[in-house]
Amino acid sequence: MRLATLVGSSILFRLWRQVVAHVGFTFIVSCFKVFRMIVRYDWTLEELQAMQATPLLDLVFEAARVHRQWHNPREMQVSKLISVKTGGCPEDCSYCAQSSRYSTGVDSDRLMGEQQVLEIAERAKAAGVSRVCLGAAWRGVREGESFDRVLSMVRSVTNLGMEVCCTLGMLNERQAQQLEAAGLYAYNHNVDTSEEFYSTVITTRTYSDRLKTLAEVRRTRMTLCSGGIIGMGEAVDDRLKMLLTLSAIQPHPESVPINLLSQVAGTPLAEQPELPVWEVVRMIAIARLVMPKSDVRLTAGRIKLTPEAQALCFLAGANSIFSSETEFMLTKAVPSPSYQADQSLLSALGMTLRAPFASQHAPRATELAAELAA
Ligand code: SF4
Repeated sequence: MRLATLVGSSILFRLWRQVVAHVGFTFIVSCFKVFRMIVRYDWTLEELQAMQATPLLDLVFEAARVHRQWHNPREMQVSKLISVKTGGCPEDCSYCAQSSRYSTGVDSDRLMGEQQVLEIAERAKAAGVSRVCLGAAWRGVREGESFDRVLSMVRSVTNLGMEVCCTLGMLNERQAQQLEAAGLYAYNHNVDTSEEFYSTVITTRTYSDRLKTLAEVRRTRMTLCSGGIIGMGEAVDDRLKMLLTLSAIQPHPESVPINLLSQVAGTPLAEQPELPVWEVVRMIAIARLVMPKSDVRLTAGRIKLTPEAQALCFLAGANSIFSSETEFMLTKAVPSPSYQADQSLLSALGMTLRAPFASQHAPRATELAAELAA
């Protein structure tokens, strides 16, 4: 071998060793797989741990690169939550203001009227919101008058030309089919955390109950929205395992909400310390890397982040948010940025709002947009 070739290859080898030492071999290999635009369902905990151990700015850089391969980085999807049935829930989710087991100051209301839902949805549409999420504090759906009224709300809001998502608790096969027949675009049911940590947060239903509902939704043409909450006292590995669970669903949930715990007075998690902002950014970046096609939704608790921290999350791959005219999420216990605050943040960042049914990666987007235009 000629000397020049030998010297050249030894320099290259030293350079390679430095790169590997710097960011970790597993992470490099994982990224190469992502860069080939392959969607994987077989991520391992070791691979996610290597991502977690990567220097933050390197991780954000790689996540931003993947984000740009799959999504328009200047586009933000904005949703509005409407609590159509607030409070009085029999479940014991330790973070929730609506559980009847805790004194949180949230009263139990009757099911909201359809006209009121439509008025809120129309104002949201005028503010650039593309998706309305109807939430009911139920353990699960029970067929009858209330469910029929929710199905009617789904049809009416869809007719406004908006995506509709419902979060109504557990579903069986027939209920999922009824929601699909009403034209529901998305169903939300969060796994919340890892299977191991789950029972320290919720005891009134199991992790496998959750997965069963996700499977029922996956058997329909509805898109799936599922994510979790960070900052509940879980270990880093619990967060990574939650992402492993979500990224093993085929196809991946089209929407993956990452909520930061809102410490609601009266709940068992009221005194949880804040998670460092860097852990929030890491979680967003890793979610983006392992589920490249999904919308990664920076959800509850976003108000606790500065505009600069939110911008870092958007750079790392968050492309979906909730915004609110009332400055709270489902209840006053969980505050939210207002439409005006979000419009000024997105405009300062040069971002535009994604139109309804315009997701590049949701199977029903084109079909539903055509139906509505007809
Ligand atoms: S999170 Fe949902 S199921 Fe759990 S207590 Fe709150 S409303 Fe009920």
